[in-house]
Amino acid sequence: MDAAAFRRYAHQVADWMADYLEQVDQYPVKSPAKPGDILRQLPDAPPEAGEDMEDIFRDFEDILLPGITHWQSPRFFAYFPANTSYPSLLAEMMTAALGAQCMVWETSPAAAELEEKVMDWLGQLIGIPATWSGVIQSTASDATLCALLTAREQVTGWEINTSGFPAGRRFRIYASSQAHSSIEKGVKIAGFGQENLVYIPTDADFAMVPSALEAAIEADLAQGYVPLLVVACLGTTSSAAVDPLATIGEISTRYGLWLHVDAAYGGAAMILPECQHFIQGIERANSFVCNPHKWLLTHFDCSAYYVRDAAALVRTFSILPEYLRTAVTGQVKDYRDWGVQLGRRFRALKLWMVMRHYGMSGLQAHVRSHITMAQEAAGWVDAHPHFERVAPVWFSLVCFRWTPPGITDPETLDTLNATLLKRLNDSGTIYLTQTRLGGQYVIRLAIGQTFTTPRHVAEAWAQICETAELVQAE
Ligand SMILES: *Cc1c(COP(=O)(O)O)cnc(C)c1O
Repeated sequence: MDAAAFRRYAHQVADWMADYLEQVDQYPVKSPAKPGDILRQLPDAPPEAGEDMEDIFRDFEDILLPGITHWQSPRFFAYFPANTSYPSLLAEMMTAALGAQCMVWETSPAAAELEEKVMDWLGQLIGIPATWSGVIQSTASDATLCALLTAREQVTGWEINTSGFPAGRRFRIYASSQAHSSIEKGVKIAGFGQENLVYIPTDADFAMVPSALEAAIEADLAQGYVPLLVVACLGTTSSAAVDPLATIGEISTRYGLWLHVDAAYGGAAMILPECQHFIQGIERANSFVCNPHKWLLTHFDCSAYYVRDAAALVRTFSILPEYLRTAVTGQVKDYRDWGVQLGRRFRALKLWMVMRHYGMSGLQAHVRSHITMAQEAAGWVDAHPHFERVAPVWFSLVCFRWTPPGITDPETLDTLNATLLKRLNDSGTIYLTQTRLGGQYVIRLAIGQTFTTPRHVAEAWAQICETAELVQAE
């Protein structure tokens, strides 16, 4: 393909992208594809000769698009959002054109220095202490792994990196029973062993009980374990619960534990003055992660990881073979030493374009509008005699369950809620997911897609109520 052909197709693709996003509302939100549906339409062997772009593009539309779940639909209420925006999309296109591999400063000085600056800007919005440093990771899971590894190395004077785990020393990691699965995954990868992840009970709002954390640490000390790290979550995945950061910070400081803050989703809300109280006590923490790729208009992947002590992070990860040495090694930030990846995309560009396009006030208005919609939806749930809300709504997630009259058996209720959810998702007009809270099956309405308006939420709620009546009538 030459530049002239590329120009022609690129214009075509740009039109397709604008049309798609304008009409995304009309696709079934959750792909109706069954296992194997896509696979069986694809040839067994790669093509012998090159094919026409027109044919490839037709197959994209006919074969692949039906197997896509439309995350950018304003009727997407599943999981947490992975919302995007037009400025971010433009940046992704420009990033692709540059095709730069930004592993060290010298391989693209602008990428390294822009990353430093946008992380600083975002940190100011979130309320990260000014002395901390930020770096873009792929995912919150990667950031949490970095925290676990840095804590492990710091406490042992970088000895495990050198000679492996010492015999007889068992480190303990603490997180609430609501913690994201990425903590457990990180604990496994970092070599601590799953058994050494201690789940701390939560209160009626699904937030960690600090006295239970303290009791667990004391019990572990009495048995000769080494308490190492505690994860506090601002916005858990199941119900967006918020752990009491300041109190957990006092305990982690008293026992000399590393405090990692998982704000993968909730971190976006910290840019609002009215949510700043949730992050009070951050100065006692050691690390913090928030995903702009969830709720801040920025394409996946873009996970903002902040650390109090950048030197400890770099010392944990740095490697310097001759082929990676440059004339400025040591004078600049070589982000390959700030995490697991060596090769890195130019991810700062999209965040920069998003922050400049919307400005602080635009970003705040965006996040605030979703919180307002969620509060309104929570009010509808509360007012309905046959639905109940099962968790507080601090951010933009509403957790509820259907409690049809006359039914009290817990298993029947779970089954009915699962039936309701399946019926809703099969309709194609909305997509929600489920969780378990207090042992009960719960439906989650996660608001946060860029194009979602109060009308979409109101229509979703009407559909939920109507579908429940239909299921009950059967
Ligand atoms: C989504 C989420 C994660 C994982 O995020 P990735 O970027 O996909 O790794 C971790 N913690 C919480 C609380 C989350 O909501």
